[in-house]
Amino acid sequence: MASTTIPLSQIPTLSLLYKLKHLAPVASPIIPRPSEALNNTICLIRNDITKLEVDCIVNAANESLLGGGGVDGAIHRAAGPDLLRECRTLNGCSTGDAKITDAYRLPCKKVIHAVGPIYFVEKPKGGNRQETLLRSCYRRSLQLAIENGMKSIAFAALSTGVYGYPSEEAARAAINEVRAFLEEPNNIGKLERVIFCSFERKDEAAYERVIPEYFPPTEQDLPQSSTEHSEPKPQEGESSTSFEILAAKLPDPPPSEPVLDGQPEAKKQKVNADETETLHHVIISKDDLKSEDDWEEVDKSEGGPIERLDDEPVEVAKASTAADVQSVQSSGIIDFDEPASTESSMMVKDW
Ligand code: ADP
Repeated sequence: MASTTIPLSQIPTLSLLYKLKHLAPVASPIIPRPSEALNNTICLIRNDITKLEVDCIVNAANESLLGGGGVDGAIHRAAGPDLLRECRTLNGCSTGDAKITDAYRLPCKKVIHAVGPIYFVEKPKGGNRQETLLRSCYRRSLQLAIENGMKSIAFAALSTGVYGYPSEEAARAAINEVRAFLEEPNNIGKLERVIFCSFERKDEAAYERVIPEYFPPTEQDLPQSSTEHSEPKPQEGESSTSFEILAAKLPDPPPSEPVLDGQPEAKKQKVNADETETLHHVIISKDDLKSEDDWEEVDKSEGGPIERLDDEPVEVAKASTAADVQSVQSSGIIDFDEPASTESSMMVKDW
C-alpha cells in the first residue's frame, strides 16, 4: 500500500462537500438549524485511517486491546510493535469505553482505542443497549481527545465491520452523539476537526445520507440555484478560485487499490505487530453468537473481496464547475460511485 499520508488541510469539510454538491440537503432535517462552525469542523473521508495526518485516530478495538483484524490490524501494523507493548499495559477496555496511547510510526500523534458493541450480542439484551454503547464510544473518545489536548480526531466507523452494526444505524448514532457533544457549552471550540473516516463504500454512503439530517447546509454552503452551473459564490476572505484550489488540493487516490484488511484467513488471526509474537486471544465466545454464520465470511461476490477505494471514472455532473469536476475526478477522496450493494464481506472476529 502506498505510504502517502493525507494532511489535515486536504480532508474535506461538510461545507466543502456541500459546495461541491457531493452532499445534498434533505427536505426536513432532524436538526433544522444549520451551523457554519460545525459544517467547517465535521469532515467526511473515505480512506485508510492510518494515512491521516490528524492529531488522533480512533481505532475499532476489542476488549483485550491486544490487536485484531480490520482497522485494528491495519493500525497495529502501521504503528509497529511498540503500540502493542503499550496496549499490554492498559489492562483491556470495557465495551463502550476507550483508552488512549501514543501513535508510534503512524502519522497521527495519538491513537484512541474504543471498544464498540457486538451488534448481535447487545441488541437482544434490549433497552437499545447497542446504541447506548456505541454512542458512549464516540463520547469517551471525544472526551479523551480534549483531555489530551488533541484538536483533530478521525473516527473509523466503529462496530460496522465484523461487529455487525448496520451502517446507517451506526452512522446515525455516531453523528447524533458527536453533534450533541460538540454543542455542549464546555466543548464548544475545543476540537477544530472531527472526521468520519469510512473505508467501505456502504459506510460512506450511510454517512452521506444521514449527515444532511443532522448537519444541514448553511446558505453559503449551497450553490446558488441561479448559478447552478457556475462556480460557487466566494465568501468573505475567499478568492474566486478558492474552491478550485481547494478541490485541486484533494489528494490523489492510492496508486494501488487498498483493500480491506486481508482475506478471511488473515482476519481470523490477531495482528502480529511484533514479528516474534503471534496472538491468539479469544475475545468473544461463540456461544455469545446468534449463529456462527453471522460471523463467517459471507462475501457473495465471485472470488473477490469487497469494497475498495478506487479511481474508477466518476459521474462528472455532480460537481460545481469544470475545474471542480477535473479536480474531483482526480481525487481519491471524493468519489461518486453509486451506493454499492451491501453484499460485501463480513468477516469472522478474531479467535
Ligand atoms: P469492528 O469489530 O468494530 O466492526 P472492524 O475493524 O471490523 O471493527 O471494522 C470497523 C470499520 O473499520 C469498518 O467500517 C471497516 O470497513 C473499517 N476499516 C477497516 N480497515 C480500515 C482502515 N484501514 N481505515 C479505515 N477504516 C477501516
